[in-house]
Amino acid sequence: MTAETGHVMSTDTRSVDERNADVPRNYDVVVVGGGPAGLSAALTLSRARRSVLVVDAGEPRNARASGVHNYLGREGTPPAELLALGRAEVAGYGGEAVTGTVTVVERLDGDAADGRPRFGVTLADGRAVRARRLLVATGLVDELPDVPGLAERWGRDVLHCPYCHGWEVRDQPVGVLATSEFAVHQALMWRQWTRDVILFRHTGPALTEQQAEQLAARGVAVVDGEVAGLEVTDDRLTGVRLRSGEVIARRAVVVASRPATGPEPFASLAALGLRPTEARMGDLVLGERVEAGPTGATSVAGVWVAGNVAEVRAQVASSVASGVMTAAALNADLIAEDTELAVEAHRYERLFSEQAWSERHRAHAAEHADSDDPNPVLVAAAADLPPGTVLDAGAGTGADACWLAGQGWKVTAVDLSKSALERAEGRATRLGHDITWVHADLAAQPAPGSYDLVTAHYLCLPPAQRRPLFAHLAAAVAPGGTLLLVGHALVPNAPSPNPYPPAHGDSDSDSDSDDGHGHGHASDGHAGHGDGDRHSGASEPRLAEVAWDAADVAASLGPGWTVESAETRPRAGAPGHHGASHDSILRARRT
Ligand SMILES: Cc1cc2nc3c(=O)[nH]c(=O)nc-3n(C[C@H](O)[C@H](O)[C@H](O)COP(=O)(O)OP(=O)(O)OC[C@H]3O[C@@H](n4cnc5c(N)ncnc54)[C@H](O)[C@@H]3O)c2cc1C
Repeated sequence: MTAETGHVMSTDTRSVDERNADVPRNYDVVVVGGGPAGLSAALTLSRARRSVLVVDAGEPRNARASGVHNYLGREGTPPAELLALGRAEVAGYGGEAVTGTVTVVERLDGDAADGRPRFGVTLADGRAVRARRLLVATGLVDELPDVPGLAERWGRDVLHCPYCHGWEVRDQPVGVLATSEFAVHQALMWRQWTRDVILFRHTGPALTEQQAEQLAARGVAVVDGEVAGLEVTDDRLTGVRLRSGEVIARRAVVVASRPATGPEPFASLAALGLRPTEARMGDLVLGERVEAGPTGATSVAGVWVAGNVAEVRAQVASSVASGVMTAAALNADLIAEDTELAVEAHRYERLFSEQAWSERHRAHAAEHADSDDPNPVLVAAAADLPPGTVLDAGAGTGADACWLAGQGWKVTAVDLSKSALERAEGRATRLGHDITWVHADLAAQPAPGSYDLVTAHYLCLPPAQRRPLFAHLAAAVAPGGTLLLVGHALVPNAPSPNPYPPAHGDSDSDSDSDDGHGHGHASDGHAGHGDGDRHSGASEPRLAEVAWDAADVAASLGPGWTVESAETRPRAGAPGHHGASHDSILRARRT
């Protein structure tokens, strides 16, 4: 910064767009895998006006097949053509799709603290984006039996699924390569498409009497001996070669592949707690899958799956269907979260904004004379501290600030509510105290200066505001200084304090047992008084949302602090008609 002008000198010569390109974009949903499942989910989500990014490595399971069959309306379309049509349809509704491989997905801790899932997604080429939800539609990768030549002919005349390829090789000589019990099932299946089926025993188990009878009854021949390779002539499969050297003419070979989830992004999904499990048909292991509920929700909050990765038997049509169904359920989940966020914002505006606090203060002033008593926890804590500089955050009616000034402290008192500050200043003037009054929202901005003591009492705020507030307060403590925070504790089964007592002798039973204090930024809720604001109409903060745990806050301070006490205590003074209540008290010294 230049001393004369105050302008920030930047050495970054990039354009704004280039600099913005470094900031990970935020999407409602990142879909990993742009096959039929991922693209149909993206279509549904983009039509639902969600921001969607599909990242696709471009290797769908059926890539080697010449056409997609059993797909109504586009029967026989080459797989790549079908996906290109899908991408264009997604783009038509504003969805984005890029080619790339997602290598890392991670939960973003900062955001996870509010319990809402948020993810970072990194591609192999280093690109990074963020997402509220992840939809994993990475399909499966077919592991083939270890016989030379199978991989080269896969999807062409080395086949697995009669519904995908049976019609194309109807009435042709077909061989079934046995590697497991499944081979008998396959041979009997393929017999539906052709009379000429041979079961090559290869490494498969011995046939039971019943299996041998079934195969014989359906005219399926059985050939013993291991298969050594395939015969290919003019780029066409022509036969199966046994270890003995014998070649048996065949037009297609059926194998049992083992479809498995690929390596990426499963290594990092495992770190989130999502691991593939075996997909079974009875005792037979067919391959892998990621377990999910009927709507595609997995056990990891915010991670959804669709298509083959969730169901090994899914075909293109059923993968498309699962993409649509999962997208709709995921969208409903986002709608629920959007509603929660909106309610929070709405509540915040009604309960925690400056206007809300000012209204409470006015109502309080109209009904109560200000108490001169300081918070007893503050009195106890300050007793062993030599007076120095102090920041009183949430000064409210100014009782604490005035008491501290009377003890010789040089006081800076901050409050969100201007009207509270005016009232507190009036009190200080009457008492002859010289206090610096600052109108500021310490949840939104750092505290001015640094102090020997930073103290705040019953700043009742919801977590999203409380976290930055406490961070700002901690940052304002000078080395060797003390942080003293007092607030409400949520003690299971303990009667909750209701700082807004029912009017004119109403009984306790009228009060909402969940109500919290609510003095918040503009605090005068001295423990033990139990005479909080009666306020004008708006519903009150719930104890559950404004209470905090001293140990949690102590842990959040990190290194450089000595925690002198972090405890939950019954509130000092008579419980009055609010019932029993507890305070959270944190006292820590900056080292
Ligand atoms: C040879 C063969 C032929 C078939 N023929 C038919 C048929 O005719 N009719 C039919 O209905 N079904 C057929 N199927 C089944 C069909 O291929 C699957 O049901 C379908 O492809 C599943 O769709 P999906 O979207 O779940 O997965 P996929 O289509 O496999 O798509 C998954 C996508 O995710 C991508 N991906 C994987 N990992 C990552 C990552 N880390 N980052 C980014 N992208 C990633 C992959 O590259 C791929 O593009 C056939 C299968 C095979 C093996």
